[in-house]
Amino acid sequence: AKKRGKNGLAIYEESFSVPLKHRMEMERLLRQALQNGEFELHYQPQINLASAGVEGFEALIRWNSPVLGRVGPDQFIRIAEETQLIVPIGEWVLRTACEFIRDFHESNENKPSISVNVSVVQLYGHRFEDMVREVLAETGVDPHHLELEVTESMVIESLELIGDKLKRLSDSGVNIALDDFGRGFSSLSHLMKLPITTLKIDKSFVDHIPDNRDDNPLTGLVIQLAKQMGIKVVAEGVEKYAQLDYLKKYDCDCIQGYLFSKPLTAAEAKDWNKTTNMP
Ligand code: C2E
Ligand code: CA
Ligand code: CA
Ligand code: CA
Repeated sequence: AKKRGKNGLAIYEESFSVPLKHRMEMERLLRQALQNGEFELHYQPQINLASAGVEGFEALIRWNSPVLGRVGPDQFIRIAEETQLIVPIGEWVLRTACEFIRDFHESNENKPSISVNVSVVQLYGHRFEDMVREVLAETGVDPHHLELEVTESMVIESLELIGDKLKRLSDSGVNIALDDFGRGFSSLSHLMKLPITTLKIDKSFVDHIPDNRDDNPLTGLVIQLAKQMGIKVVAEGVEKYAQLDYLKKYDCDCIQGYLFSKPLTAAEAKDWNKTTNMP
């Protein structure tokens, strides 16, 4: 069941199960967190299977609250979206992530890209495109080194509205990744309607990869189809060697997961050796 928020966005009913008092308190704490610099980004490497090097990092937000302790994004992004606080938080994420990759490029031979998660609430905002261009200009990051991750559910709900914005950003060089592919209502037809450059196969799909690699060709078929369309494929949540073998066999481009590396602090990611550690 859905309700219409005051901004016209569909908001899922289940989120209102959180008591109002708690939600208002969370909003206050999130506002404070933004002002006091309580957010932090961690960076998870994406490994290119052919070169065994880092092709990119995904920026993942963390909240170190003096009141609540460490809070994961699954516990606060929804409320940040409903209160529109995701707009300034998302801008902070993009700027911080771009500063990180600029610094990384200054001290490294290889030039990995930075992937940033973008919420539908941000994409709806009329300033979104300008904000992205401003941050790129301010930080001096080449648009080709930035990837915006959007989720399937987001795209399904608002294909028309969001498609044009993504297309214009894509035309200026920014990469667009379809995140969490295979979770919920999957549809490969979205790949044709949107300027998708990367397909991120969800962990739930990766989890289905059997120990016997010939048992289940589904994930492999999705990889092959995407690749035939010229789309890069990144497998998420890779934890096992059997999954790695399967993904290699089907020519998956990149893997991201605990098997290779957990999300790292900026300091860890910066002096992280790019060529060793390959499982
Ligand atoms: P996501 O975009 O699908 O990010 C991948 C999540 O899987 C991350 O959780 C990551 O830590 C976790 N992960 C990576 N490899 C493995 C693995 O091998 N095994 C398992 N079990 N998990 C793995 P995290 O950091 O808790 O983020 C959760 C979600 O919160 C993200 O899912 C994303 O949807 C959202 N999120 C995170 N940062 C941001 C942000 O800056 N902005 C927005 N709008 N959403 C964010
Ligand atoms: Ca993501
Ligand atoms: Ca994902
Ligand atoms: Ca997600």
